[in-house]
Amino acid sequence: MDTVLVVGAGPKALAVAAKSQALRAIGLPAPRVIVVESHAVGGNWLPSGGWTDGQHRLGTSPEKDVGFPYHSTWARGRNREIDAAMRDFSWNAFLIEHGTYAEWIDRGRPAPQHHVWARYLQWVGRKTDMELIAGSVTGIAAAADGWLVTVTDAGGGSSEIDCDAVMITGPGRSDRAFTTHPKVLSIQRFWDLAGRRLLPPSSRAAVIGGGETAGSALDELVRHEMLTVSVISPNATLYTRGESFFENSLYSDPTKWSTLGAEERRDVIRRTDRGVFSVRVQETLLGDNRVHHLQGRVTAMADQDGRVALTLANERRADQVHTFDLVVDATGGQPLWFLDLFDASATDLLELAVGGPLTQARIENAIGYDLAVSGLDAKLYLPNMAALAQGPGFPNLSCLGELSDRVLRPDPARRRPGARERAGLNR
Ligand SMILES: Cc1cc2nc3c(=O)[nH]c(=O)nc-3n(C[C@H](O)[C@H](O)[C@H](O)COP(=O)(O)OP(=O)(O)OC[C@H]3O[C@@H](n4cnc5c(N)ncnc54)[C@H](O)[C@@H]3O)c2cc1C
Repeated sequence: MDTVLVVGAGPKALAVAAKSQALRAIGLPAPRVIVVESHAVGGNWLPSGGWTDGQHRLGTSPEKDVGFPYHSTWARGRNREIDAAMRDFSWNAFLIEHGTYAEWIDRGRPAPQHHVWARYLQWVGRKTDMELIAGSVTGIAAAADGWLVTVTDAGGGSSEIDCDAVMITGPGRSDRAFTTHPKVLSIQRFWDLAGRRLLPPSSRAAVIGGGETAGSALDELVRHEMLTVSVISPNATLYTRGESFFENSLYSDPTKWSTLGAEERRDVIRRTDRGVFSVRVQETLLGDNRVHHLQGRVTAMADQDGRVALTLANERRADQVHTFDLVVDATGGQPLWFLDLFDASATDLLELAVGGPLTQARIENAIGYDLAVSGLDAKLYLPNMAALAQGPGFPNLSCLGELSDRVLRPDPARRRPGARERAGLNR
């Protein structure tokens, strides 16, 4: 693999770029890393990215940085050297370089605000030799021995980049809401209004969703004057992200993951990741008697004299209708957002590799050890879909060092016929 193109300059891109540079610095082979970013390095952690106002704090420890867990298994006999080289990109190195390390320790190692985390990511970006291209990836097509990626820049001009492998990152768009109604806000609109202190005054607010996106929105809403704030999620209760050693270790070190059965894996993810709030957000909400949880799945929204009537479906009881004067759709990203980028030939290849029409379950089951879709000749890395098959830490910040090891690992099977040959797509 000579060139890997990463869609989006978030933590995953920076982890791969930093590891690639660290490998080359100690004389080991590593591919060229091209990163295409539509907004800014670390953009989704900035107010302008549409997922946060930048002021809220990271849920996980910042020491889970681009090199964590500093336990490379990439090259026998050289792994400690790789770990040492990666320490140049660590959160601690960032603080030391900026002269704030002692202060951070003395203040009790506080979780950084999202915009500070973005600054850390930008610092990592500047220290690497990754090629950063400003623009949006708007198309991905199958090429003879890789992918042809179309990039559209801010002025509307487009160019094509030929690469051996592609890695997709990020949650997709944040500007979609369940329905078009002035009192129903997408998460992007919510942060835009909150940032400009223009959130409409409301007495009964609702946040739909039970994950990090909803957690940050709630953390913000409770700072405003509301009579009640309801959190709507299908779960029986609001769970807290598991933070015990046993739970954390499954995230940091996914080697144990392969010993668990499918149901056990789903159970761990359900209890510790999807639809859960960080401990810090949960503590804020517990102490606020305006916050309630409503169990159910929102199936309909209707206008009721300028307010919003939500229908909540729940298997065990009849549908319920609740009315609010502000609703935030914080259901989070769309896991399959990147499929819109694929042209017909690339979609065919992917379908052939996963064995049928593209569904979340099929793709998740097809993610191999290297976090790429198995059965494709040209690598398509989908770490955001790797939780079930490879470990719950890969979609988030829990083991970015392990993620980069796996993505950059030389592939002995590279020349085996894959879906491309089987589809007769060799051009
Ligand atoms: C509010 C919030 C708080 C969170 N807190 C935590 C936490 O504390 N700990 C944790 O582990 N996880 C947290 N998460 C989950 C978090 O999203 C991931 O852990 C992490 O950011 C994912 O990194 P990434 O590199 O995949 O993507 P992102 O950081 O999301 O980066 C994706 C990048 O892709 C760019 N992009 C999008 N589309 C295109 C395109 N077509 N072309 C080019 N560029 C594009 C975006 O501008 C963005 O910069 C949080 C999520 C949210 C929404």
